[in-house]
Amino acid sequence: MPLALRPEFAGQEPYGAPQLDVPVVLNTNENPYPPADEVVAEIASRVADAAAGLNRYPDREALELRGELAGYLARESGVRLPASQIWAANGSNEVMAQILQAYAGPGRTVLTFTPSYSMYPEYARNVYSTFVGIERREDFSIDCAALADQFAQHRPAVVLIASPNNPTGTAVEPGDLQRILEASRGVGPQLTNGAEGAGGADRADAIVVVDEAYGEFRREGVPSALELLDEYPNLIVTRTMSKAFGAAGLRLGYMAASQEIIDSVRIVRLPYHLSAVSQAAALAALAHRDSLMEQVEQIRQERDKLASTLTGMGLDVAPSDANFIMFGTFADRHKVWQRLLDQGILIREVGPEGWLRVSIGQPHENEAFVAGLKEAMR
Ligand SMILES: *Cc1c(COP(=O)(O)O)cnc(C)c1O
Repeated sequence: MPLALRPEFAGQEPYGAPQLDVPVVLNTNENPYPPADEVVAEIASRVADAAAGLNRYPDREALELRGELAGYLARESGVRLPASQIWAANGSNEVMAQILQAYAGPGRTVLTFTPSYSMYPEYARNVYSTFVGIERREDFSIDCAALADQFAQHRPAVVLIASPNNPTGTAVEPGDLQRILEASRGVGPQLTNGAEGAGGADRADAIVVVDEAYGEFRREGVPSALELLDEYPNLIVTRTMSKAFGAAGLRLGYMAASQEIIDSVRIVRLPYHLSAVSQAAALAALAHRDSLMEQVEQIRQERDKLASTLTGMGLDVAPSDANFIMFGTFADRHKVWQRLLDQGILIREVGPEGWLRVSIGQPHENEAFVAGLKEAMR
């Protein structure tokens, strides 16, 4: 007998960036530096302490960790928030899933500006929501003039904006973000006393999620959306320890938002979703935030250097505020990607037709990439 898989998932493939064992891996925007010895030692010791109490469930509210994340954000962005306005989960992927569970769902729409993160349509699908992608302009900026009409047409419950964006690397203009937040007022699902869509004409503000997975890599003078939290109770800023923190393997993402939003996410989270081991390891890594942030500075410098090298090679380079660069354009990008792989260099074939994306590696890896690319373009 066939099994009755939900129609949304029929014929779908699981997420799969290639995990190939090659000398130069520059395809998933990880931090190229493994944790320093003292960070490894501290993680091991805190996890050992946590292990001694594993017969008990972990702190369901992860309050100590949320306090430390709040302290980190204050230092990184200058925006000080109480622990109660921070929420943590297993990667910002899980944070996003929880947000959509609470605010999207069947009959509701999730909207984003494409090209953007390839997971967004899948998050929307997983909660049985409609997904709408509005195309960005040629320079990957958002066309704000059209926003009012688009929001009136699609009535998004949730608007997702990656900034710095993946795969383009571009950050949303601060003025544009404010225009989006203004336009999001009163355009969401209908508010009624009973069932959605029956009677009352008032509409909720759309939830606006700014995904700052690459926030720490933004260039000097580019603000974080955290600065707007006070003004917009429908704004959520998500962050992760996967990129700048060099802890993709840890699976620790978090968000900052109004108390009301945090409380609604607490309703849908699975009890004890964040293991005692994860919480202990994240606290250990956060204790070394200073040395980790120096590394971020190095990666930013390498990024700017690689961007000018690629420009000097006559390529188009999208201005990057992230730890990767999208460049092109190639008549046959797959051929270039394959020729790099043949030389043991793995990058990513994503973005608009003709573009490729490379993560910033250690200096010797970036040099190998440039040499490999010259060879591939011959
Ligand atoms: C890498 C990435 C994330 C991080 O996801 P985690 O689950 O925290 O590892 C989130 N958003 C974007 C746009 C990304 O590229």
